[in-house]
Amino acid sequence: MQVQNKYDYIIAGAGCAGYSLLYHLLKDPVLSKKKILVVDANFNKGNDRTWCFWEDSVGPFESIVCKKWSNIEVLKGAMHRSLPTTPFEYKMIQGIDFYQHISAFAKGFENVEWVASKILSIDSINANSARVNWEGGAANADYVFSSINGERIQSTLWQHFKGIIVEFDKPVFDQHIARLMDFNVPQMDATAFMYLLPLTDKKALVEYTLFSPSILVESKYDTVLNIYMEEHYKGQGYQIQHTEMGAIPMTSKKLTSNKAAIVSIGTMGDAVKASTGYAFQFIQKQTQQIVSQLKFNQALNPAVHHTRHQFYDAVLLYILEHQKMAGDEIFARIFKKNDAATVFKFLSNTSNLMEDIRIMLSLPTSIFLPAAIKVVFRR
Ligand SMILES: Cc1cc2nc3c(=O)[nH]c(=O)nc-3n(C[C@H](O)[C@H](O)[C@H](O)COP(=O)(O)OP(=O)(O)OC[C@H]3O[C@@H](n4cnc5c(N)ncnc54)[C@H](O)[C@@H]3O)c2cc1C
Repeated sequence: MQVQNKYDYIIAGAGCAGYSLLYHLLKDPVLSKKKILVVDANFNKGNDRTWCFWEDSVGPFESIVCKKWSNIEVLKGAMHRSLPTTPFEYKMIQGIDFYQHISAFAKGFENVEWVASKILSIDSINANSARVNWEGGAANADYVFSSINGERIQSTLWQHFKGIIVEFDKPVFDQHIARLMDFNVPQMDATAFMYLLPLTDKKALVEYTLFSPSILVESKYDTVLNIYMEEHYKGQGYQIQHTEMGAIPMTSKKLTSNKAAIVSIGTMGDAVKASTGYAFQFIQKQTQQIVSQLKFNQALNPAVHHTRHQFYDAVLLYILEHQKMAGDEIFARIFKKNDAATVFKFLSNTSNLMEDIRIMLSLPTSIFLPAAIKVVFRR
């Protein structure tokens, strides 16, 4: 393919953030006419992940939402808390549907070009220009939006998991309830829970998830998943249709700094919520924000987390890192004493001060106050 060597925008990395930015750019009547190049090492990722998030309205990707729930449950010991999520719905999108949906939409634009190759470097030329070098070529652009993880990510804590999609012959799941956290699993000196999302009454994603400093060998996730399935669905045969594994950094530290015409997006653009690992909705917010800033010729600022909520994240991470209180106890208390909507708002950074106070009152001041003071003085 003939690649020009000057573009308005180069999108380096076509995963969640790269595709989201492309989608929002192409939805804008003016920016959709810009010359855009999309570079990724692998455009055939298949169904490499599922994204779940909550929304209180019809979102831009409603047509590819494969399942939504209006109830969640959280379990710890004898506590079994079921909560309606109104006005939110907890939604799931399959990675493959997302990639295909956006690439099919973008194929209608002749001004969008694609290169399948490994990016070797992204260099700043001056305040208004940057260069992307890939195996076999290079091009310049006014802006490069990068989600590639060039350097190894440094993070003291990770959210890491293995999930299996299981299918039974007979109905075994209540498909109306998403099991957000079942802490009745081995904690491994960390915070660990089973995440169980029923897709039908026979089929579910069952994911063993941990917040801890190091990632496990695959067989350890398998052992816990097998025991959990045996305990809950004893003797009932099922088939594993699909597996997913992942590790998401949980850090309040910036992963990259933007350099003039090079703007980091997605995980590398600090879109992940440090205390939870959720990123999908923050990536939508970030890429829509960039589109708006480009449209109105404003300086680009991809930051999506506000100072107040970043502070709460830092305090929680401090408590988890220094094992001041067990994570299962923290989340169980939050869900026991609050409704799902307040918790969702808090975790989306959209809660107001009163709602924040309500969440904080669920937690022991004797632990959280000293941690907050430590975080203030560490900054
Ligand atoms: C398995 C999994 C499940 C997740 N589930 C959820 C969820 O339910 N809800 C939620 O909110 N968040 C979730 N996340 C977190 C987050 O939403 C995802 O990690 C999201 O994909 C991050 O988007 P991104 O664009 O930054 O990175 P990616 O989607 O990983 O995209 C990066 C892209 O860059 C490309 N690339 C990397 N290096 C190079 C290179 N040198 N040259 C060329 N291309 C390169 C890759 O091929 C890839 O396409 C999940 C993460 C994982 C790993």
